[in-house]
Amino acid sequence: MQTKRQALLLCSRNLILVSPHIGFLGGAITDLELCHNNLRILPPEIGYLKNLQKANFSNNKLETIPTTLSNCYKLRELICNNNRLTSLPSSFKFLQKLQVIDLGQNRISILPQELGLISTLQDLDIRENPIKFFPSELFRLKTLHRLEASGCPLYTEQDYNTFVEELENEEYSPPSLKELAARVLYRHQAPILKHMQMNLESYLHPSNTSKCTFCSGPLFESCVIRWRKVVKDNTLLLLQEKHCWRHWDSELDRVSALFRCKEWTAPLVLDPSGYKGDGLLSRKSSRSSLVVRRSSLVRSRSNSFSILEQAFLKKSLSNLEEDAGESLIRIPLQVETGVDTLPPLIDRRKEKGPFNVVVQKARQLRHTRSATSLF
Ligand SMILES: [Zn+2]
Ligand SMILES: [Zn+2]
Repeated sequence: MQTKRQALLLCSRNLILVSPHIGFLGGAITDLELCHNNLRILPPEIGYLKNLQKANFSNNKLETIPTTLSNCYKLRELICNNNRLTSLPSSFKFLQKLQVIDLGQNRISILPQELGLISTLQDLDIRENPIKFFPSELFRLKTLHRLEASGCPLYTEQDYNTFVEELENEEYSPPSLKELAARVLYRHQAPILKHMQMNLESYLHPSNTSKCTFCSGPLFESCVIRWRKVVKDNTLLLLQEKHCWRHWDSELDRVSALFRCKEWTAPLVLDPSGYKGDGLLSRKSSRSSLVVRRSSLVRSRSNSFSILEQAFLKKSLSNLEEDAGESLIRIPLQVETGVDTLPPLIDRRKEKGPFNVVVQKARQLRHTRSATSLF
């Protein structure tokens, strides 16, 4: 059953601020129109609008979109054209119903590769942004049927040739030991043991993890950049790939790499929500999980591993047996949803907090510039 549409229409009201109290509307509205105002910022509490399907923030002065918008998981249409956005939050990948994104006339120079994970995306408008290239993931979306990129200073054939030439002098800087450890833990969904705490819990948080374009393996900080070119509608587009290691160097390499068997860097368990190493072993069931874990580790040994990885796994496994589940720690990760945590909803109407100050400013302004504040 379709929910009844309830709209909050506040177009052209000279708004300069939206109060955090908007969160109290909760699931009451499906359409939010805040276009043609003077908004520079949106409150993170906007993420409380659980039933939001269409959001129109166009023609404002927004510099960011709150990452908590990823909590509005029913969102189908996001209109943000004519603002001052410089980036998009990568948490957008959790908006798995989003079909239309309009980001025209903003200041975005890099599209996050996570855009390619929105499997429902049909229409992406990025006209008149300083975008020069696209994440390769975007072109894997089977649903995408319109990409409007007019007025973007796209890279040319000449730029591509320069990138390829530069490759010859490329020095590959391998990932740090911390990143290597995190990659192994992620790929095997192995628990974090007490002795290997290097702030790995926060490091492994889904918002910190990206995926290798080639093998889908995890990567955190270190990556290898590769370029590809495609022609769409007589326009040359350069696609950027982020690899977890040197999967291929040349176009010929790439094609032959496609025929290789599974890369050793690929995740053993394909889990879209990221690392789930927490709560794997409770004290009661530790024996049986230990057996399961051991067999999966042994099985995975038949794949070709790097020497470093083998050493790390061996050490983890021996420690796992020693600890017998006792020193395994549960990690308070938000892996179930992965979206950004919402701030608590506080009714501040009676308080004299910093928020009231801003409202007052807005009220004073109203007399001079007819500026108003929502609520
Ligand atoms: Zn409007
Ligand atoms: Zn890879």
